[in-house]
Amino acid sequence: MLLMKGIAASPGISIGKAFIFEPDKLKLERKEITEDGIAEEIIQFKEAIERTKKELIQVKKRVMDEVGEEYAKIFSAHLLVLEDPFLIIEVERKIKEERINVEYALFSVLETLTSSFSSLDDEYIKERAVDIHDIGRRLLGNLLKQKRVNLELEESRILVGHNLTPSHTAQLNKEKILAFVTDMGGRTSHTAILARAMEIPAVVGLINITSLLKEEDTLIVDGNRGEVVIKPTPEVIEEYSKRKKEYELFITGLANLKDLPAQTKDGFRIELCANIEIPEEVDLVKEHGSEGIGLYRTEFLYLGRNTLPNEDEQEGVYKEVARKTFPYSVIIRTLDLGGDKLSLHLKQPEELESNPFLGLRAIRLCLANVDIFKTQLRAILKASVYGNIKIIFPMISNLEELIKTKEILREVQEELRRENIPFDEAIEIGVMIETPAACMIADMLAEKVDFFSIGTNDLIQYTIAVDRGNERIAHLYEPLHPAILRLIKLVIEAAHRRGKWVGMCGEMAGDPLSCLVLLGLGLDEFSMSGVVIPEIKEIIRSVTLSEAKEIATEVSKLDTAQEVKSLIRKRFSKKLDKVLLRSENG
Ligand code: PEP
Ligand code: MG
Repeated sequence: MLLMKGIAASPGISIGKAFIFEPDKLKLERKEITEDGIAEEIIQFKEAIERTKKELIQVKKRVMDEVGEEYAKIFSAHLLVLEDPFLIIEVERKIKEERINVEYALFSVLETLTSSFSSLDDEYIKERAVDIHDIGRRLLGNLLKQKRVNLELEESRILVGHNLTPSHTAQLNKEKILAFVTDMGGRTSHTAILARAMEIPAVVGLINITSLLKEEDTLIVDGNRGEVVIKPTPEVIEEYSKRKKEYELFITGLANLKDLPAQTKDGFRIELCANIEIPEEVDLVKEHGSEGIGLYRTEFLYLGRNTLPNEDEQEGVYKEVARKTFPYSVIIRTLDLGGDKLSLHLKQPEELESNPFLGLRAIRLCLANVDIFKTQLRAILKASVYGNIKIIFPMISNLEELIKTKEILREVQEELRRENIPFDEAIEIGVMIETPAACMIADMLAEKVDFFSIGTNDLIQYTIAVDRGNERIAHLYEPLHPAILRLIKLVIEAAHRRGKWVGMCGEMAGDPLSCLVLLGLGLDEFSMSGVVIPEIKEIIRSVTLSEAKEIATEVSKLDTAQEVKSLIRKRFSKKLDKVLLRSENG
């Protein structure tokens, strides 16, 4: 038996067998396809060729700049292979006539080509065989990468992986997944966020658990305390089963808060909303008592698929979310791809960026792909007549970006007016405050929008310079760092002075200790993973606004996060012993 301590990423306790998930080692398999599947395989082939070409052009350019033209020529030869009619025609023929999957069709054509070329005596032709081999591997790699990961588990399992990207996680069938366990990741990595959205217990940041496990090993995952037990003894299983029951009882006990207002003992009411990633979550978060959606992360609509969602599809989805949430509101965030959420279809760097979280992400990506951005804005505006929709723009870091974004929105609104398509003319517009730069110019931004939502997941990473998904420095990722508290205070004050309201959709809003300080700082709206809403409501309902204001003033005089946490615990632990537990392990 081995007990490992990681980062508690999503609450709950599960006991089960491990399924080791290695998407990077996708196997090349021969699979029969149906007649209906032929077109899809051919589309995938063409997409992989295009993607590979773009990569090669990029590499060629770099080699040309760094090493010289002579070496860059190799890549011209590779590009020619990609245009070779024999290769293209033969792969397509195999897919159509032999009804086999594209990767296998490509693999067998490459095999034929390289073996027939390398058996010839001619040196030039032999070299071409090497080219074909090289390029074939790259093309095959791209094909495998863009394939949907097939995760059809027959029995329920605990999913163990080195890293689960958001696009992998978004494809999982949650019915069969008991828990997630990963080597990498932090509490606010998108994998952790998705685990909470799916209400699946998770522990991340375990560093090397994948290398210590074998398929089918029994595991206990305690997502409340961040513990994983490998091959537990029967006594330990019994102990954790008891904890599991206790936790479930505690959660059931909170269920009666569902229809009660999120109001302090002295009658101060806040808005308690949920963050969602997929439309299906709306019903679930309502069950937890959310009053609307404070953040809808629309980029999940773009992940793990082979085509972009078109205007109609998006309109349909946004409409459904708005309708179901009505009379409460839905804050739809425009695409936040980039960073750790990558789509195959947008103008993103062909080669990985060395600092993707500082790169072409969120609003930057949208401003570089205006057509795609406009399609999304049209869809949101068209859906706005079916409910109460607000729009928020992610990762604004300067005023020009906001001005440009609003200009594009105005153009789209003009287009719709010309087409006589109705939309909510008074739709509220907000920005996410998630860079230190945005905090420092909050006064200027507030003049141009209706509201703010503070995205602390990123704000913390950019302010403290600590990667939110890196388990090795997770101890530095600290919401209650005095710098973060000062920035939040500054933002709330700047907005309030201009009559604008401020919400928070970063995970900090759902952190038991932090929410008390945020309440005292005057935050108007709290938005969080649905599962934690009942606990936060319990906290809000157990204190008075004046107690919260007092603690906010007192912590602002302290020097370290540790002191801040100790003071809040000392002050509130009697009232809130159970609900504060999560903060000790997060
Ligand atoms: C944030 O950064 O706090 C946020 C809510 O956005 P995301 O987690 O999707 O980056
Ligand atoms: Mg963010």
